[in-house]
Amino acid sequence: MPNVISADWKLQMSSFARQTINPHRLMVETSKVFPNPEKKVITLQLGDPTIGNFSHPPEAVEAIHNALNKDTFSYYPTNGIQEAREAVADYVYKNDGTLIDADDVIITSGGSSSLELCFFLLANPGENILIPTPSFNYKTWLHGPNIVSKTYKLDPTKQWEIDLDHLESQIDSKTKAILVNNVGNPCGNSLSKNNILEVIAIAERYRLPIISDDIYEHFVFPGVQYYSVAGLSKNVPVLSCSGLTKRFIMPGIRLGWIVIHDRSNAFKEIRRGFTQLLGRNFGPNCSIQKALPGILKNTPQTFFDDTVSRVQKLALTAFNLVKDIRGLVPIEPNGAFYMMVKIELEHFPKFKNDIEFVEALTEEQSVKAFPGPCFDFPGYFRFVLTVPMDKLIEACERIKEFCADHFIDENECQKLIIEVPEKQEVSNMKMVEITVT
Ligand SMILES: *Cc1c(COP(=O)(O)O)cnc(C)c1O
Repeated sequence: MPNVISADWKLQMSSFARQTINPHRLMVETSKVFPNPEKKVITLQLGDPTIGNFSHPPEAVEAIHNALNKDTFSYYPTNGIQEAREAVADYVYKNDGTLIDADDVIITSGGSSSLELCFFLLANPGENILIPTPSFNYKTWLHGPNIVSKTYKLDPTKQWEIDLDHLESQIDSKTKAILVNNVGNPCGNSLSKNNILEVIAIAERYRLPIISDDIYEHFVFPGVQYYSVAGLSKNVPVLSCSGLTKRFIMPGIRLGWIVIHDRSNAFKEIRRGFTQLLGRNFGPNCSIQKALPGILKNTPQTFFDDTVSRVQKLALTAFNLVKDIRGLVPIEPNGAFYMMVKIELEHFPKFKNDIEFVEALTEEQSVKAFPGPCFDFPGYFRFVLTVPMDKLIEACERIKEFCADHFIDENECQKLIIEVPEKQEVSNMKMVEITVT
């Protein structure tokens, strides 16, 4: 046996790891685009409201302190401790009027781990799950184990309603579930009762379960009615994924849950599957589980009311400022804390696509945002609305200046295309449009 250690001992990652890509984290942590050193950076990228402005309920700190003072740090049941699961059941009943049992709740390490469990549990390699476009980075979990993501469209001309015909056309014999995200990221849209009922009817016709990403549940602006998928489903089984991250503004605590709304008795084997999958790591740490009842019970309604009305003011301000910028079309949100903005790329021939637009915005104006492809929706960029008001206004002003510097109106655009035929912008722009449809 050769006893020589090779000079180039290079290990390769597994295909599971290679196919697991989170575009948001990659952009934030490895970007090679440098802001203008003369302007202070304003970041509108990650959906983390604790950056500079919003904060958790004080009641949560007290609950965590009390939990840490308890003196047991033993192993606990795979699905989560009983009092945490009971507390989620009470919380769901209080908020939605839906009666569930502690046994219908699974405690997880955040919304992401709730989603991951549902995906891995429902689909085999080569089978598919339907996800919206634009959407959150669900592909980060799906593509590692070769689960296929098929996308259905949300319609920007109808407040991002689910395009039902398109959704139905995407279902095939390998479809295992429909994912619905309400209230939605990146659009900040809460779905109407009718739209949800229609999706439920489609799921029922094809006998598919719904994975409902409810991390922004009840996060709607004053005057907007929120409807939960599970609350409206009579016969279709629903896995509702939620947690403390967004509504309680505690992303770093890493605590989430899954509620099994077992309509039609469909989830008998799936329940066992959750326990089996959780046998891999047993969920979040015991102290934070012990704190959960206190956090859920003691956080007053005024905390949520205050948060959403502050976000609404920020949303309105940004919407009104951006709608007057030539070349941009913002779509007004009615919940969560994001706004999508369409870039009329035909007026910005200097940029091949939204990625170049957003990169130049960083380089010239030090404003950072995520371009459309991060959400599988080219031609747009996403605003995070939870920064302090003065920063948000300043960001809008800089975006306005940036657009004024690069905007070219239609007649001039035509001239440019005719005079400089070797430039490829137009065909590239077309490619961008084509992938949207
Ligand atoms: C933030 C977010 C989640 C969950 O995030 P966690 O930090 O893992 O709790 C899930 N879905 C969407 C759409 C989100 O924006």
